[in-house]
Amino acid sequence: MTAKKLLKQYFGYDEFREGQLELIDAMISGGDVLGIMATGAGKSLCYQIPAMILPGVTLVISPLISLMRDQVQALAASGIPAAFLNSSLTEKQWNKAVQNAKNGMYKIIYVAPERLFTSSMTELVCGLDVSLIAVDEAHCISQWGQDFRPSYLDIPKFAAGLPVRPVLAAFTATATPRVREDILRTLELKNPLAMVTGFDRPNLYFEVRRLKDKYSSLVRYLRENSGAGIIYCSTRKETDSVTEMLLEDKFSAARYHAGLSESERSKSQDDFLYDRVKIIVATNAFGMGIDKSDIRFIVHYNMPQNIESYYQEAGRAGRDGLPSDCIMFYARKDINTALFLINQSENPDEIARNRKLLNKMEQFCETGDCLRRYILDYFGESTDDCGNCGNCNDTSEEIDITSDAQKILSHITRLNNANKRFMFTHTADILLGKSDDFTDLSTFGIMKGTPRSYIRKLISRLTALSYICDDGYLSVTPKAKEVLYNGAAVTMRGQKPEITTKKEKPPKVKYNFSDELFIKLKNLRLEIAREEKVPAFIVFSDATLVDMCQKHPRTEEEMLTVSGVGEVKLKRYGIRFIELLCEETPASAPGETKNFTKELFMQEITIENESIQITRVADNFNAVFLKYGKEKITGAKLNNLLLEAGYLIIENGVKLPTSRGREIGIITIRRNTERGNFSQCLFGAEAQRICAELLVITGD
Ligand code: ADP
Ligand code: ZN
Repeated sequence: MTAKKLLKQYFGYDEFREGQLELIDAMISGGDVLGIMATGAGKSLCYQIPAMILPGVTLVISPLISLMRDQVQALAASGIPAAFLNSSLTEKQWNKAVQNAKNGMYKIIYVAPERLFTSSMTELVCGLDVSLIAVDEAHCISQWGQDFRPSYLDIPKFAAGLPVRPVLAAFTATATPRVREDILRTLELKNPLAMVTGFDRPNLYFEVRRLKDKYSSLVRYLRENSGAGIIYCSTRKETDSVTEMLLEDKFSAARYHAGLSESERSKSQDDFLYDRVKIIVATNAFGMGIDKSDIRFIVHYNMPQNIESYYQEAGRAGRDGLPSDCIMFYARKDINTALFLINQSENPDEIARNRKLLNKMEQFCETGDCLRRYILDYFGESTDDCGNCGNCNDTSEEIDITSDAQKILSHITRLNNANKRFMFTHTADILLGKSDDFTDLSTFGIMKGTPRSYIRKLISRLTALSYICDDGYLSVTPKAKEVLYNGAAVTMRGQKPEITTKKEKPPKVKYNFSDELFIKLKNLRLEIAREEKVPAFIVFSDATLVDMCQKHPRTEEEMLTVSGVGEVKLKRYGIRFIELLCEETPASAPGETKNFTKELFMQEITIENESIQITRVADNFNAVFLKYGKEKITGAKLNNLLLEAGYLIIENGVKLPTSRGREIGIITIRRNTERGNFSQCLFGAEAQRICAELLVITGD
């Protein structure tokens, strides 16, 4: 089967996303690949589809044990046989999985890197035909990356030790050029096809709120925004206190940080994953391995220490591609906390490096320019203003700041000429006349009385415009001459400091998640997820539910056109969604003007060849009733009709078929259950038809 057909049949998607098909094609023709794709871009499919096409099995090496379980569940829900081998299995479970693997029951096996050279693994792979090894989170192989895993270094040796060296495929979302180089070299990829898709996440909305009272803003935000979300705090203490306040205010929240017991942490994580709590308040310890695709918002209650961490954390929102928020709650105080944390290091070089990174983060919070553009620029991608971030949407006016800009630039020029480069605080102190030194500099006290925060904004703006170079210490660039001597005007979005009232921002364009139908679909999804003990997004993603709201499918065929509904999921879950959607559709939908008659009913019902329970007979009838907006029938009502018509009788409180009943194919079976033994009637095809005949159908 072709890759595109598999995409539709198993995953329910019509089109490949950027880079996917190229990578898949390369793998199935035997080539190594390196895929660098943003979070949520769809890396998993890139190796799952080749795994279905190639003979034998695919091993997926992943550092994240919790993620393995989710992925295997998700694959199983789509009808793809998969398993995982990691330390969370008991010996018995491990042996069973290995046995199944040997019997060829899996196409995909997830393995933790630490397990590659264990004896049972070596024994297993001897008897397996491994066609492909996919290395997830491949940046873990690099010592330059923040998540270095020594056991990743075993992978090339492991691959080389197999009877036939399989195709190697490496995937990651975060790779600076240096890390990329490391992956290629250390994994020993052979002439790999490397695909780098952009870092942009168009469905994420970025906004920085400069706030004094963060908590009440948080509460306001949470009241206006439903869905699951993470609130990141920079310290354990803050995590605890925010959680406590939210619980007091009756929000559904849990906390997560490294100071908690293992059991509390995994409970919090599971509660969040399974939608038992909506909000998780956490330090940056939370997130690695969180594959929840329907996270609708990330609030940074404190500013993180660098853009890399920020983007990685913010990027956990909206993996399903739906609009999601990344809101930064920023206060100057956060800089002090970050500096404090950075200064804990004993290594002065590290402190200096981290301060530079912090500086970039601070500029992000202070800039009035497009936030998305700022981030992409940071990662080396150039774009235009996005038109959809907090700053692009800011309606405050452009103000002329030329005169203030000249004061600041000439001040810094003077300091630089005296061979001095100061950090922001000291530079501003002299401008404000609050310093003991440089009192005879002509710019001393030249901006007396101006709020420090305003000077901060001005300097950020001048840095963004490349008049100032700010690597922690400030200096002017040659370009500053344009402003100082050639009369170039400088503007900035915002208000002069003496004006304190702020204009209301326009409402954001968002998907309407309060939509009643959407909520009903979500509830049904949750119900199914609880029955099956899987996270809700394994059943269907939010994106799939949104598509259902829009397409409103009422038949199996229509349901298959919904993005994210493949054939297995249709059978497993889709039917119940169709029922719900049929209930939601008015009977006289346009084009559906047929008169509802007994004849029509008899034509449309499903008669099954097997002998089935009465409730299932009723379900089959109800599918038709629902379609035409008719009242449902219950199994009990059908039983009564059969009793009245003499097909069933009750003896000693037990329903049994009469001889007439047996003639039309009603049988009894005995069932032994926990609640004891009892007999049950089952209804063959003829009996099902008679049930239908017994119903009185009234036309429209
Ligand atoms: P990554 O591992 O790159 O962060 P995932 O593999 O988890 O991303 O995919 C993110 C989401 O995108 C999943 O819900 C996945 O089903 C969906 N997805 C992947 N490929 C496609 C596609 N071609 N069309 C629509 N949705 C897709
Ligand atoms: Zn923007």
